[in-house]
Amino acid sequence: MSKKVLVLGEVRDGSLRNVSFEAVAAAKTVAEGGEVVGVLLGEAVQSLGAELIQSGADRVVVVENEKLKQYTSDGYSQALLAVIDQEKPESLVFGHTALGKDLSPRIAAKLSSGLISDATAVEVAGGNVVFTRPIYSGKAFEKKIVTDGLIFATVRPNNIAPLEKDESRSGEVSSLSVEIKDLRAIVKEVVRKASEGVDLSEAKVVISGGRGVKSAEGFAPLKELAAVLGGAIGASRGACDAEYCDYSLQIGQTGKVVTPDLYIACGISGAIQHLAGMSNSKVIVAINKDPEANIFKVADYGIVGDLFEVVPLLTEEFKKL
Ligand code: FAD
Repeated sequence: MSKKVLVLGEVRDGSLRNVSFEAVAAAKTVAEGGEVVGVLLGEAVQSLGAELIQSGADRVVVVENEKLKQYTSDGYSQALLAVIDQEKPESLVFGHTALGKDLSPRIAAKLSSGLISDATAVEVAGGNVVFTRPIYSGKAFEKKIVTDGLIFATVRPNNIAPLEKDESRSGEVSSLSVEIKDLRAIVKEVVRKASEGVDLSEAKVVISGGRGVKSAEGFAPLKELAAVLGGAIGASRGACDAEYCDYSLQIGQTGKVVTPDLYIACGISGAIQHLAGMSNSKVIVAINKDPEANIFKVADYGIVGDLFEVVPLLTEEFKKL
């Protein structure tokens, strides 16, 4: 049955994040031929509407307000609830990002709706929209359908292929004026940690270091490999706890969840809490000098050896390609 689906476009530093296009593709499936309405919230985001339409949205509703310049759950939910009130969608799709994880339960509660969070796939089967999501830290997957009420889901970045951009697509980009009541929290300043290179949660290649890198300097060969492959650097909690790198790089149960095309684990033992954050990567390469290391159980390719010898060799070989 065709539905109207509202999909949230996520803006960072003036650009749409990739997950927005993946969410549009998921929304297309959920809509089953119905209308996909993109939503953009922010201070000056109108110009991004066309890009959302080229990626598959049929039209876009924009709420611009200086109180939406920085994300706050309070401000965004006021704006989004106004859009929902206007559009009356049968379904909502957000990215399963830090923003989506914060906003979606709040909106679901306000709408007295359920929420299927962290979906890695969506399909139409047996007359139902079926979402797949990982459970038990990624050790199993469950399939979920909504039998009553709103279909509300968040989609994990890097799992659902975006549609090919079609620059000939056009659609209405309309504005909705929303009076945002006083915010309970105001972001006065954003102090960013200096981060190098590619955004970890959206990277297609992740090179991760564990306690085996032995020091902060030990990440240097990994960074060289990442530069050659256009990848991002990640880490185990072991490496973060040992202060070899910042906690913002931690991958795992209590860190980030990544699903790149290629994950190279260097000097990481493969504790279950680490696997929870990376075991759904498409191709996993493990480099460890212990042939019994648990990481080899999830690896597609395993190299038993010293990472300080193996990683520079890989870098040299990849440079030749
Ligand atoms: P180690 O287990 O010490 O492994 C180091 C590996 O490096 C060894 O396998 C060794 O053989 C290899 N090695 C050493 N030298 C070399 C070399 N020169 N070349 C090649 N290999 C070498 N961990 C996470 O990663 N993410 C999480 O989100 C997370 N959450 C947690 C939550 C809870 C509640 C708890 C209790 C733990 C959590 N942990 C998490 C910690 C987790 O249990 C492990 O302690 C941690 O992942 C180990 O990090 P590691 O593999 O780098 O270190």
